Formats: sequence, structure tokens, C-alpha cells
Amino acid sequence: MIRTRFAPSPTGFLHIGGARTALFSWAFARHHGGQFILRIEDTDVARSTPDAVQAILDGMNWLGLTHDEGPFYQMQRMDRYKAVIQQMLAAGTAYPCYTSPDELERKREEQRAKGLKPRYDGTWRPEPGKILPTPPADVPPVVRFKNPTDGVVAWDDLVKGRIEIANAELDDLVIARADGTPTYNFCVVVDDWEMAITHVIRGDDHVNNTPRQINILKALGTEIPQYAHLSMILGDDGQKLSKRHGAVSVMQYDDEGYLPEAVLNYLGRLGWSHGDEEVFSMPQFCEWFNLDHITPSAAQFNTEKLNWLNAHYLKLADNARLVALVQPRLEARGVSITASPSLEAIIGLYKERVSTLNELADAAEVFYIDLHPQAEILAQHLTPEALPALAEFVAGLTDVAWEAPAINALIKRCIGNHGLKMPKLAMPLRVLLTGQAQTPSVDAVIVLFPRERVLKRLAAIPYN
Ligand code: GLU
Repeated sequence: MIRTRFAPSPTGFLHIGGARTALFSWAFARHHGGQFILRIEDTDVARSTPDAVQAILDGMNWLGLTHDEGPFYQMQRMDRYKAVIQQMLAAGTAYPCYTSPDELERKREEQRAKGLKPRYDGTWRPEPGKILPTPPADVPPVVRFKNPTDGVVAWDDLVKGRIEIANAELDDLVIARADGTPTYNFCVVVDDWEMAITHVIRGDDHVNNTPRQINILKALGTEIPQYAHLSMILGDDGQKLSKRHGAVSVMQYDDEGYLPEAVLNYLGRLGWSHGDEEVFSMPQFCEWFNLDHITPSAAQFNTEKLNWLNAHYLKLADNARLVALVQPRLEARGVSITASPSLEAIIGLYKERVSTLNELADAAEVFYIDLHPQAEILAQHLTPEALPALAEFVAGLTDVAWEAPAINALIKRCIGNHGLKMPKLAMPLRVLLTGQAQTPSVDAVIVLFPRERVLKRLAAIPYN
């Protein structure tokens, strides 16, 4: 049974890199009919907040990355970590160390002064035949892991290939602080073990932790999971993705009008490929996804491509669903939506032409507010040759059948009578009705409005 986990630290929002890690872990489990576990690594109490936990849960929920177990909170598992520490002390794979922080710092300084890499000097490390100093009465000990001193720790990373670290490079890691609280790497190890994780898929900022974690897992005599370290995501400009790049929190993409399926599809292709396939649903992604086609190099974010995918999914989306997504956006802008024109009809007409829900809201907004088209746009399109045709069109509107073909016929009659080409009349109509020169076919736009609203908008200009 394949078991993966996503293990965010709740110190901020669910950012786009975390979301991709979650997606790959989730999809790998789904592909294999396995289980996906959500674990909140909240042991950094100074930086973890309930708001950040909620933001992570909201982000996962918005993306639809459902977990089969959890969320487990590390702060609720302290007793378990402490029990394992006792077990390791008893087994001799961990030991108490009484070197005080001051003394440790002093020794490090000495090592640095000698040009050496600062490391724990092993004073309290038990060895066969070694006599340890007498523990001082007033120093509460930390607990250190007794890391092997020779050989290498190696793993075949499923993304990066074989990685080997000499044990001599690794210190005896502190696994419990002087107050008894377990440290970060130790909690991860105990959890990955007890949650029976088979594949650890995570960001490559954790590569350095992996040899330490493997050594502790070995000392516990447990199975070692497989590791897949995902390369980082760079921004559009090739720099490390950060707040500078705007939307890095997943929920900000929601705010900016992206659909979750577009973000998921986009993230799926960020560092993974299946031939040339660019557009795929999540069931399709889960069917294809494996760890063999993840690129070990950094992936670069491309907002244009995300916009293109979002436009694609907007076209496919059901109109009623889009109404439910656009309506709150309009309400948040203080726009009150009336029954007529119908928001659903507006969306049906405009969804092919926009890249985000916010652009859809922009397009819909002009149908509901008092419109004051800009003077320059009016001057540009309301040319003297257009005005008589417009006047005839307005006169004809009062009794034309309220449907696009009849309105189209009226437009054609008016331009015919005045020897004009279509845009000469269509452009001023667009501008007067929507404030914009770019709209779908003008007869289709006109019939979205009730007749009186069109007459009112068109009456706002002098025709001679
Ligand atoms: N809590 C870690 C983080 O948010 C992830 C740890 C892991 O995946 O092993 O970066």
C-alpha cells in the first residue's frame, strides 16, 4: 500500500510551491490506489498560527486535494515522540549530553578560530570502554542521536538520483531539547515511521535533513521510505519564487479569479510532463502521474500559460457555476445585480473572451452600473457620419422584435441606408452600451439588456 503525506509547517499561507508538493504527493497516492495523509508540523510554536493552519486547510480544500487520514497535528503527538526518545535512550542509540549552550558556543568559537568546521566534540557520547564525565547537577541535558561515525548514508532519490553523504559529515543531532521537547527532524522521523509513509515527496530544501532522518530511522530498525525531492519553483523572472512575484499564496489565485482546475493543471505541468500533454483533468493526471517524469531542474513559473489554461477552463465551465463565482465578486464591488440583464446570459456570452473570473466580473459590471463612457472613446467612435445611422437605429429599436437576428437586420438596414460599413455603427453602439470598444457581437450584447435600458443608454447623446 502506497502512503504519501503532505506535511506543511503552518507559519504562513499555502504557497504555490507547497501546493505543487501536495498535488504530487496526492496524485502519487491516487495513481497507486494508496493513501494520502495530511500532517501539520506545528512544533515551531513561535511561528505557527491557527490562521496559517486554516489557510492551509482552505487551500487544500479549494484545490480539492482530499486527504485520507489526518490532519494530524504534531503538537498533539508530543507524548509519542517523548516515548520514542526514552526507547532510544534505553537502547543506547541516543544519549544525554550535558554540555551547556554557553560551553557549546565557546567550543565552536575555538573550532572556528582553528579554521575547523564547528561540530559537537562528542564529550558525552558513550563508547565501549570510554569513561564519561560525571553529569553536573545543575545542567538539564539535551538528548543527542548517536550518529554512526563511519561509512556513508545513501539513498536513491526518485527525482535527483543517488545521493551519498559521509557519516563523518554529520553531527550527533539533538533530538530533544533540555526542556524535553523533541526537535524538528526527530518528529518528522517518528511520524513518517508511525504513519507508515512509503514515499516522502517534498521540496528539495529538505535534502540536507534526509541523511539524518534515514540514520535515525535505521537506528529505530524501521523501513526507510523512498524519497523524492522536488526542485524549487522560480518566478516568471527566473528568480526564486517569493512574495515579490505577487500571488504566491494559493488562495490569492482564487481572489484573482483563477479556477482551481486551471491552477491544478498548471501545477501538474510544473516540473512534470507526459509527452506534450498540456491540458488534462485531475483524474487523467492521477492516471498518468509517476515520479519518473519529474525534472530535477528548477521549474519556472509562467503566468501567461496559467492565464491560457484558466481561459480554457472558463470556456468549459458550466454557466450556473460561473454565476455563483462571479456574483460575489460583483457584490464585493458594491454592484447590485438585477434580474435583467441576466448574469447567466452575460457570462454565457463573455466567458469565451476572458482569462479570469475577475475579467468576467469586469465585463458583467457594466451591464448593472450607471455607465459614463470616457469622452475620448466617445469622440473616437461617435463620428459625424455615424450619428444619422445611430439616430435611425434608435428610432427602429422601439418596435423591433427583441432578439438578436431582428436587431442584426435593423443594424444592417441602417448602415445600408447610410452607406456605412458595419463597424461604423457597431463600434459606437458598443461604446455607448458597455463603455468598451471590444465586445462580443453587438446584436448579442444588445439583447442581454431590457429594451428600455438600451434606449436609455443610447438616448444619452445628441444625434445632430
Ligand atoms: N514541514 C516541512 C515544511 O513545511 C516539510 C517537512 C517534510 O515534508 O518532511 O517545509
